[in-house]
Amino acid sequence: MATTAEPGTTSEATNRPTPAKGWGSDAADQPLRPMEFERRALRPDDVAIKITYAGICHSDLHTVRGDWPGTVYPCIPGHEIVGRVTAIGSEVTRHRVGDVVAVGCMVDSCMACDQCLAGWEVFCREGCVQTYNSPDRHDGTISKGGYTDHIVVRDHFVLKVPAGMDPSRTAPLLCAGITTYSPLRQYNVGPGTKVAVVGLGGLGHMGVKLAAAMGAHVTMITTTPEKGEDARRLGAHDVIISTDAEAMAAAATRFDFILNTIPVSHEIDPYLQLLGRSGRMVIVGALTPMPGFVGANLIWWNRAVGGSAIGGIPETQEMLDFCAAKDIYPDVEFIRMNQVNEAYERLLKNDVRYRFVIDMSHGL
Ligand SMILES: [Zn+2]
Ligand SMILES: [Zn+2]
Repeated sequence: MATTAEPGTTSEATNRPTPAKGWGSDAADQPLRPMEFERRALRPDDVAIKITYAGICHSDLHTVRGDWPGTVYPCIPGHEIVGRVTAIGSEVTRHRVGDVVAVGCMVDSCMACDQCLAGWEVFCREGCVQTYNSPDRHDGTISKGGYTDHIVVRDHFVLKVPAGMDPSRTAPLLCAGITTYSPLRQYNVGPGTKVAVVGLGGLGHMGVKLAAAMGAHVTMITTTPEKGEDARRLGAHDVIISTDAEAMAAAATRFDFILNTIPVSHEIDPYLQLLGRSGRMVIVGALTPMPGFVGANLIWWNRAVGGSAIGGIPETQEMLDFCAAKDIYPDVEFIRMNQVNEAYERLLKNDVRYRFVIDMSHGL
């Protein structure tokens, strides 16, 4: 059954591919089901991790359901991963067996181009290898993500979970956390910054917590008053209901920075008008084509619109260290692996406060 390790990848005769279990999908219209496959033998710079918790991201659902082009089936998703190191390759020095570690959206890149050298592996000129549904740089096999019992990842892409951090609530930081932390840091959000977070879901709730922890004055902009109440509990200082035209007009030019987490195409003019001089709105949720906007809404008040992806590995580690120091965690609902299909249905209805985490201690 087990294939032999590639020659030269390891000096240890005992290092062989390992049987793995996971949950994945065979086709866009199929539910996830238990699957068996193999994880590769350790390369010299590889780390093997027993997964203890895996977060569920909207991207997982979009990928397995074929909402975006390019899904290779069977597809085993998951890119918010926390676990414990069980083995290391011969050249690994940064991680030791027993360490609590995390893996996010990437597992490899060229590590030689300008972007990789600058710590922005996500923009690797050769394309980073994503944690699932992405061809391996060496053998071309399609990566399989975190809905599994263990994973093998190149050491550089393994993050350290700081001592004292609660590993059960850490997993969603690896995608939802870094996606919101990165733009807040890039644009120097801090004490005195007037920040608005638009949309309260997995991303938005982390945006509120992180911006507040950075010392900003945070306003939640949401369609529903109930979500506004929730936002205050998460740390928002103020709430604007976006359907309240009077409140939106009163908030014109009030903000320095808007974190736009709306996950679908939408008009941005109503939000642009909320930006003050040289204010910036960063889009982190919507990947689909967006409607046009009125040029004057950018030109007048010197406003800018941008986007932001996940951060690189150094910034992801910085985010984990920041969250550990400030005691910041996502709000999570734990499920067992066999509840994942039900969780997807609830995710489609936005029926989660605010992230599902699969607790692997019950087995797969
Ligand atoms: Zn994600
Ligand atoms: Zn690169």
